[in-house]
Amino acid sequence: MKRLTVLGATGSIGRSTLDVVQRHPERYRVFALTANGSTDDLLELCARHRPRYAVLSGQDEHSALGRRFAQQAGGTTLLFGAGALEAVAADAECDVVMAAIVGAAGLAPTLAAARAGKQILLANKEALVMAGELFLRAVRESGAILLPIDSEHNAVFQCLPAPGERAGALDSVRRILLTASGGPFRAAPLERLSTVTPEEACAHPNWRMGRKISVDSATMMNKGLEVIEAQLMFGVPLERIEVLVHPQSIVHSLVEYVDGSVIAQMSHPDMRIPIAHALGYPERIESGARALDLGAVGQLSFERPDSRRFPCLALAYDALRAGGSAPTVLNAANEIAVHAFLGGRLRFTAIPLVIKETLAAVPAPAAADLAAVQAVDRRSRRVAGEAVERLLGRAA
Ligand code: NAD
Ligand code: MG
Repeated sequence: MKRLTVLGATGSIGRSTLDVVQRHPERYRVFALTANGSTDDLLELCARHRPRYAVLSGQDEHSALGRRFAQQAGGTTLLFGAGALEAVAADAECDVVMAAIVGAAGLAPTLAAARAGKQILLANKEALVMAGELFLRAVRESGAILLPIDSEHNAVFQCLPAPGERAGALDSVRRILLTASGGPFRAAPLERLSTVTPEEACAHPNWRMGRKISVDSATMMNKGLEVIEAQLMFGVPLERIEVLVHPQSIVHSLVEYVDGSVIAQMSHPDMRIPIAHALGYPERIESGARALDLGAVGQLSFERPDSRRFPCLALAYDALRAGGSAPTVLNAANEIAVHAFLGGRLRFTAIPLVIKETLAAVPAPAAADLAAVQAVDRRSRRVAGEAVERLLGRAA
């Protein structure tokens, strides 16, 4: 029986995780569920899964709420504040941590899970992008097990030799090909992009996801973050990681070997599949996803990404090449720009401008510890916020 903490339980990934977990009551017990502010949603999940702890990280101590959870969720103890996220991620009674908070807010608890040697199911790519070396060092030193939830990285993981047999085997990998759907604006006229709305940007053709990652998919910064994530997670040089647009989202990524063999992982676009893979690993367990019928799918198509349409992708490669904490700057600037776009304050096409300006303005030496990463993150947010103010409403 494995005991599981779900960071970001009320989100898209959190709920898909609980859907898989519920299918395997003999394997998993929910230890803790966390949310930022959605109290009623969290309470409803706690009533169903009866965790030992629930955390509302965005709220201060509130005794009446605590009583409600204790009564309606059958004894769940409600904790408050960001510090409680770290406590439930590192608790000795927890074995597996699903890291599914969106954005930089997930870094501290995910790092706490890494330091405590947990099995980490990593959806929160921003945590890895912003603190790559620090995070990987914590995993190495504690013996934590890091399993990718991002569908592309989970696919690559499945196409590579098993981790125990990877030493040296990576030399035989010629390329990692990360697929990208191209998002809702893959074929939209370029001149339309400066006036698209948040609702249009969040209407992803293949996946139902949180709003931030939906916008990232529309700009393709999501793929940019994923290139960085892949470089860190698999230790393959940047020149050997490529992006391929594949609108059907059936092939989730591919690994090409020196002999010319290309191995791909395929499934319907359903996040319960990578979640079940990582939860059950190294065994295979039911995910609840429907079977793939390639005869019904009919056609799979591929194309190269259009750099004029998706300038964010090149910015991510630039940041990774620049090294140091440039990926931290990239991630922070992107979070600020996406937030401003979702709030109706910034044009869609101004998102890459904010990121580019911030990358140029913020010094990004390598960060030795969490405090240094957070300092670069804070400074980048301030500079990006100023760029947003300058670009406010301006045609881009
Ligand atoms: P979401 O917006 O649906 O859910 C986010 C969760 O994080 C919620 O539970 C929310 O309460 C919590 N949260 C938000 N802000 C917080 C804060 N400041 N402090 C603590 N908790 C906070 O997002 P999602 O789509 O589930 O994505 C979660 C993560 O998984 C992201 O990093 C995303 O890039 C990654 N991911 C998602 C998908 C997907 O299909 N949704 C696929 C691959 C990777
Ligand atoms: Mg992905």
